[in-house]
Amino acid sequence: MIREQADPKAMAASPAILSRLAAGSSCCRLWCGVTRPLVHIRSARATEPGARKRDEEHLWEAAAYLPFSRASMGSFFQDQPVLKNPFLEDALLRGYLKRHLPQEAVWSDLNAFGERVAKEIDIWGRECELNPPRLVHFDPWGQRVDHIVTSAAWKRLKDLSAQEGLVAIGYEKSFGEWSRVYQMSKLYIFSPSSGLYTCPLAMTDGAAKVIQSTGVSLPVEKAYGHLTSRQPERFWTSGQWMTERQGGSDVGTGTETVAVPQTDGSYKLHGFKWFTSATDADMTLTLARVQDRSGSTTPGSRGLSLFYAEVSRGEDGRLQGIEVQRLKDKLGTRQMPTAELLLDGLPAYRGVP
Ligand SMILES: Cc1cc2nc3c(=O)[nH]c(=O)nc-3n(C[C@H](O)[C@H](O)[C@H](O)COP(=O)(O)OP(=O)(O)OC[C@H]3O[C@@H](n4cnc5c(N)ncnc54)[C@H](O)[C@@H]3O)c2cc1C
Repeated sequence: MIREQADPKAMAASPAILSRLAAGSSCCRLWCGVTRPLVHIRSARATEPGARKRDEEHLWEAAAYLPFSRASMGSFFQDQPVLKNPFLEDALLRGYLKRHLPQEAVWSDLNAFGERVAKEIDIWGRECELNPPRLVHFDPWGQRVDHIVTSAAWKRLKDLSAQEGLVAIGYEKSFGEWSRVYQMSKLYIFSPSSGLYTCPLAMTDGAAKVIQSTGVSLPVEKAYGHLTSRQPERFWTSGQWMTERQGGSDVGTGTETVAVPQTDGSYKLHGFKWFTSATDADMTLTLARVQDRSGSTTPGSRGLSLFYAEVSRGEDGRLQGIEVQRLKDKLGTRQMPTAELLLDGLPAYRGVP
């Protein structure tokens, strides 16, 4: 039978009695913030004469005091982990840098950045998860605007990326061939707290590298300056729009986008890009097939060219040569805007033939 410090029915009926017992009795334990009386369950055979209860009452009482009967999560709570400076906490990284890059400037920068990551940036990353981007197709007056609305934290991460030189470090080359190690160390401690801003940064870095490798000339020269800038108001991110409906890896077969030559030497692109992350970027590198006068293109990888295009809006507020079909409904990486894009006369410059 059940020996009670208090009548459980009465307590269930009266919170006041429960509080009194909680305050006065040493036989109470805290259950998920609610004080509950401690009861002892004895053998069912030790029934006291005259105190026989109905079976349902026994069942009710027993159920009421099972550990998980009221609070399904039980009484154990783990403390929230506290993020400490990820640079100071990473013995392996510091050990590696000690051997290969022991410069004071690098260490003090990584240390200061680690403090920012723990105290400031980690919260922004969380905000990006809580406020994923959304697409506004039309303005209140029915005009097509295709505006990708991103969180304030996502925008702050762009400014931060410029200030901290997260792309620039790799191109300033202040530490020679070790500059990339320095840059990657910084990105490495940034990444888990970055709200996936490392995705647009990877594409931005990749675009800068392509431009640098293929020889910088106008108008791409201007873009290179933006991509590698440390000034937030000058800094650009770049997309890489390669994947089309038929698939991602095999661009030689999958690319249907065509580039129509213009009289000024530029091109207009027409096609459908199926997976474009960081669609809020300022520019992009993308693939297309140049059309000849008869409108034909060369099939396979041989027919592919790389194009540079800026993402801009006309005076009417519409994206020039781009319609954002929809944002991808992804299983993960929801912090960043990944879209399907219809290219309908996107002005572009040919890079590598
Ligand atoms: C979150 C997210 C963001 C993305 N953002 C972008 C973006 O910004 N820009 C962009 O252009 N694309 C983007 N993509 C698309 C991505 O680049 C493609 O998914 C990728 O290129 C792979 O293409 P696929 O998915 O069509 O797979 P497939 O090409 O069909 O490949 C499927 C599988 O087959 C394997 N495979 C393919 N070809 C071969 C081969 N020849 N030999 C052996 N194995 C092979 C692959 O390794 C893979 O395991 C994004 C995708 C995701 C998931």
